[in-house]
Amino acid sequence: MGDREVYLNNVWVNAAKNQREYDEVEAMKKRYQDCKRAETGATIICPTCKKRIIKRTYNKIFCKNDCKDKFWNNTSDKRRERAKDFNRK
Ligand SMILES: [Zn+2]
Repeated sequence: MGDREVYLNNVWVNAAKNQREYDEVEAMKKRYQDCKRAETGATIICPTCKKRIIKRTYNKIFCKNDCKDKFWNNTSDKRRERAKDFNRK
Protein backbone atom coordinates (compact mmCIF):
# COMPACT_ATOMS: atom_id res chain seq x y z
CA MET A 1 0.00 0.00 0.00
CA GLY A 2 1.21 3.51 -0.81
CA ASP A 3 1.15 6.35 1.71
CA ARG A 4 -2.09 7.65 0.35
CA GLU A 5 -3.80 4.26 0.67
CA VAL A 6 -2.48 3.92 4.21
CA TYR A 7 -3.80 7.38 5.01
CA LEU A 8 -7.20 6.67 3.48
CA ASN A 9 -7.37 3.35 5.27
CA ASN A 10 -6.67 5.09 8.59
CA VAL A 11 -9.35 7.65 7.88
CA TRP A 12 -11.79 4.85 7.20
CA VAL A 13 -10.81 2.91 10.32
CA ASN A 14 -11.24 6.04 12.46
CA ALA A 15 -14.57 6.83 10.89
CA ALA A 16 -15.77 3.29 11.57
CA LYS A 17 -14.57 3.55 15.17
CA ASN A 18 -16.30 6.89 15.67
CA GLN A 19 -19.45 5.47 14.15
CA ARG A 20 -19.35 2.49 16.53
CA GLU A 21 -18.85 4.79 19.52
CA TYR A 22 -21.63 7.01 18.31
CA ASP A 23 -23.94 4.01 17.85
CA GLU A 24 -23.12 2.82 21.37
CA VAL A 25 -24.01 6.22 22.83
CA GLU A 26 -27.23 6.26 20.83
CA ALA A 27 -28.08 2.77 22.12
CA MET A 28 -27.37 4.00 25.66
CA LYS A 29 -29.73 6.95 25.18
CA LYS A 30 -32.38 4.61 23.83
CA ARG A 31 -32.05 2.33 26.89
CA TYR A 32 -32.38 5.44 29.06
CA GLN A 33 -35.66 6.37 27.36
CA ASP A 34 -36.92 2.79 27.80
CA CYS A 35 -36.11 2.96 31.54
CA LYS A 36 -37.87 6.29 31.87
CA ARG A 37 -40.99 4.92 30.22
CA ALA A 38 -41.04 1.69 32.28
CA GLU A 39 -43.51 1.40 35.14
CA THR A 40 -42.40 1.30 38.77
CA GLY A 41 -41.83 -2.35 39.74
CA ALA A 42 -40.84 -3.37 36.23
CA THR A 43 -37.46 -4.91 35.39
CA ILE A 44 -35.30 -2.39 33.57
CA ILE A 45 -31.82 -2.55 32.07
CA CYS A 46 -29.29 -0.04 33.39
CA PRO A 47 -28.51 2.21 30.39
CA THR A 48 -24.79 2.22 31.19
CA CYS A 49 -23.83 -1.33 32.23
CA LYS A 50 -26.91 -3.23 30.96
CA LYS A 51 -27.46 -4.87 34.35
CA ARG A 52 -31.06 -5.92 34.99
CA ILE A 53 -32.59 -4.06 37.93
CA ILE A 54 -36.04 -3.49 39.38
CA LYS A 55 -37.38 -0.01 38.98
CA ARG A 56 -38.26 0.63 42.62
CA THR A 57 -39.15 4.31 42.31
CA TYR A 58 -40.53 6.17 39.34
CA ASN A 59 -37.28 8.06 38.82
CA LYS A 60 -34.92 5.10 39.27
CA ILE A 61 -33.00 4.63 36.03
CA PHE A 62 -29.45 3.55 36.88
CA CYS A 63 -28.24 0.64 39.02
CA LYS A 64 -25.77 2.91 40.84
CA ASN A 65 -24.63 6.52 40.91
CA ASP A 66 -21.46 5.54 39.07
CA CYS A 67 -23.52 4.46 36.08
CA LYS A 68 -25.50 7.67 36.23
CA ASP A 69 -22.32 9.78 36.15
CA LYS A 70 -20.84 7.67 33.38
CA PHE A 71 -23.99 7.98 31.33
CA TRP A 72 -24.10 11.76 31.51
CA ASN A 73 -20.35 12.07 30.93
CA ASN A 74 -20.53 9.86 27.87
CA THR A 75 -23.57 11.38 26.28
CA SER A 76 -22.43 14.97 26.74
CA ASP A 77 -18.77 14.25 25.79
CA LYS A 78 -19.81 12.69 22.51
CA ARG A 79 -22.00 15.63 21.73
CA ARG A 80 -19.07 17.98 22.35
CA GLU A 81 -16.71 15.82 20.28
CA ARG A 82 -19.04 15.73 17.34
CA ALA A 83 -19.59 19.45 17.52
CA LYS A 84 -15.81 19.88 17.36
CA ASP A 85 -15.54 17.54 14.34
CA PHE A 86 -18.29 19.38 12.63
CA ASN A 87 -16.59 22.76 13.01
CA ARG A 88 -13.31 21.43 11.63
CA LYS A 89 -14.85 20.26 8.34
ZN1 LIG B 1 -25.31 0.16 35.86
